[in-house]
Amino acid sequence: MPEISEIHSADFEGVDDLAGRTPVGTALFDAVVNLCLQRGFVFRSAEIYGGFRSAYDYGPLGVLLLRNVKEQWWRSMVQLRHDVVGLDASILSPPAVWQASGHLDHFTDPMVECRDCSKRFRLDSLEDSRGCDDCVEGGNFTAPRQFNLMFSTHAGPVAESATQVYLRPETAQGMFINFANVARAGRKRPPFGIAQIGKSFRNEITPGNFVFRTREFEQMEMEYFVPPDSAAGWFEYWCEARLQWYLDLGIRPELLRMRAHGDEELSHYSSATSDVEFLFPWGWGELEGIANRGDYDLRCHAELSGERLDVFDPATEEHYLPHVIEPAAGATRAAMAFLMSAYHIEEVNDDQRVVLRLDHRLAPYQVAVLPLSRKEVLVPVANRVFDLIKGRWNCDYDETQAIGRRYRRQDEIGTPLCVTIDFETLDDSAVTVRDRDSMVQDRISVDRLPDFLAERLC
Ligand code: ATP
Repeated sequence: MPEISEIHSADFEGVDDLAGRTPVGTALFDAVVNLCLQRGFVFRSAEIYGGFRSAYDYGPLGVLLLRNVKEQWWRSMVQLRHDVVGLDASILSPPAVWQASGHLDHFTDPMVECRDCSKRFRLDSLEDSRGCDDCVEGGNFTAPRQFNLMFSTHAGPVAESATQVYLRPETAQGMFINFANVARAGRKRPPFGIAQIGKSFRNEITPGNFVFRTREFEQMEMEYFVPPDSAAGWFEYWCEARLQWYLDLGIRPELLRMRAHGDEELSHYSSATSDVEFLFPWGWGELEGIANRGDYDLRCHAELSGERLDVFDPATEEHYLPHVIEPAAGATRAAMAFLMSAYHIEEVNDDQRVVLRLDHRLAPYQVAVLPLSRKEVLVPVANRVFDLIKGRWNCDYDETQAIGRRYRRQDEIGTPLCVTIDFETLDDSAVTVRDRDSMVQDRISVDRLPDFLAERLC
């Protein structure tokens, strides 16, 4: 079982635990991790070789959830806007990119080593703990040294310094180095944005808390290029829009907050940064950072590459370097927050059920097709129902076990609607549609089923 770091119980005061059944703190963490491992959302990577602590594999349900999270982000950030376009930049890049961005010199965490057991820690991770958790006395530490978090490798067959390349630690630089390409090819002028979803890699000193902090993870980032005098307004706009995205997709409001960075926390190039934070079982943690980055990135890349990255303003007839507002989110972290917020246990007829109240746009399956029994007469009808709706929704199909147990299983993985085909279906060409949250059942003719589902899943 992955470990959880220290719990700050005061943070949970006032958090609704629905009839006192839904767990909080470590109990919630354990319950969600167990559900993930048992039901196939997330597996420990390389498990048959003992596991690989800093990485996880997304199983059949996890891959659907993660795709839905990314799809919803893309829809709101790109598809529904005419001022944002997409990009898919390479993961490997030459040192010059990371030299200009400052990552080679500054993308470091202070690291200390326990002299007793040689375990390494990020200095700030020790602030709230009693020291080295493996040593009786809490450990005895070396002086901190800066550790660069970028992974490097070599391009080509010869491993020498001239062939060194880096795996990106963020997707953002792909947008900055392609700024001029996108503006020219897409005929875009500020204000406009470039959005990207993709894998990033950081050699984190202390990965942990399940998929919260891993060495390989997915990001959803957007760089919004604006005229300098409008940057402050756009920063406010994006802070509001990004918080609303999580709320619209059903994160419980009491588990979400926006936290502005104090002056001491701000990067030297940022004039304002706010984090969208989620109340994880161990306390508040960042889901997304929104930063007003000024012209830092374009200026650094223009200087090192010698290319012009400024734009011409026909109104003032002057060239200027756009300023950048960056909402940078983690897809894997967001998926974990959606799961934790949705996890509920409730009492039903003297029994308990686990129900994952995921928004239907995020649920791995929107519909489950369940023939009441495996009897030969029902299976072909159930397959016809599956074929009728499979093109519009992700559908599960399950003909094993008693129907009650199948409903519970679908509740537990968040499927909003179950469609049951029973023996009456053979006479009345109707099916039963059961709602995950209310458990109310409606009898609907098969002809009307697609429209009925569309109304419920809009
Ligand atoms: P943290 O302070 O948690 O290390 P950060 O401020 O360094 O995060 P950013 O560089 O702003 O993170 O990256 C944007 C987003 O990418 C974060 O809000 C988070 O959701 C996600 N992210 C960053 N590092 C990791 C990681 N190691 N594992 C999973 N997600 C991550």
